[in-house]
Amino acid sequence: RRSAEVERAQELCFTADGARIEVFANLASAAEASSAVRAGAEGCGLLRTEFLFLGRDSAPDEEEQRAAYAKIAAALDGRPLIVRTIDIGADKQVSYLGVPREENPALGLRGVRLNLARPELLQTQLRAVLRAVPTEQLRIMLPMIADVSELLEARAALEEAQRSVGVTDRVSLGIMIETPASAMLARELAAEADFLSVGTNDLTQYTLAADRTNAGVSGMIDAFHPAVLRLIDCAGEGAAAHGRCLAVCGGLASDPLAAALLIGLGVTELSAAPAAIPAVKAVVRGLRTDQCRKVAKRACAAASAAEVRAVAAEALS
Ligand code: PEP
Ligand code: MG
Repeated sequence: RRSAEVERAQELCFTADGARIEVFANLASAAEASSAVRAGAEGCGLLRTEFLFLGRDSAPDEEEQRAAYAKIAAALDGRPLIVRTIDIGADKQVSYLGVPREENPALGLRGVRLNLARPELLQTQLRAVLRAVPTEQLRIMLPMIADVSELLEARAALEEAQRSVGVTDRVSLGIMIETPASAMLARELAAEADFLSVGTNDLTQYTLAADRTNAGVSGMIDAFHPAVLRLIDCAGEGAAAHGRCLAVCGGLASDPLAAALLIGLGVTELSAAPAAIPAVKAVVRGLRTDQCRKVAKRACAAASAAEVRAVAAEALS
């Protein structure tokens, strides 16, 4: 059964009633890209570019970055590549950026905040990405958005990088929904963003006010919590109001139990860990969108993560 699942994973994914669901891979290195394609990845929904920046004494220069991104783009062979701008800060610290020690790094200068606070670093990365990946294949994604102004500032930075390397076509620029603020403002953000992608790891941490690196509260961290689902619902409404794609690239997308809920909330792209792709596709193929919407509605009305899990399990049985 397992090998039949892997074989079918090579085919594009549709629900039983014919709705196209893109199943992409999360990548954190060039080495993973080819094996992800073999596992059935239809693209990369999250390239964690931090792999180039962590565990060293200085930032990679434009050429080193360009070569790494070009290798990944080539391995994906024209499939979409969503490159996330560096998400340093919080649990991922580097010495050479001169970020002062913070009392609450998860609430500090991280993600897009650091991108905008270090414009030279962002320009170098954006130029490298623009030179490495053909515009038709490329989407750029901003982590930790909490305000529309951050997106507008990042768009201006992208346009500056485009001028400097001579890319004149419009480049797709999307945002991660990782803060409750961004989920609640999804409609306003979707007016400016080309796509939205929910980072359920951080969205869960910030919604439940439970540090994802603190073992003492790990029992609380559950992306099936109805408060998290209601925020994803909000993001779905915002994305739909402007006809934008809603993706999920956090850990919840790798869990086949969540597929019906997410599709019911309007998600059309699931970006999973490469190893999870065959199982996610197999589950999606058995779902009907009208049934998913009903399940999602019931799950959003639940009072606890345990209740949501029970509703989701029933939908799969
Ligand atoms: C997330 O927060 O869900 C996410 C995908 O980003 P990361 O896990 O890299 O913080
Ligand atoms: Mg995150």
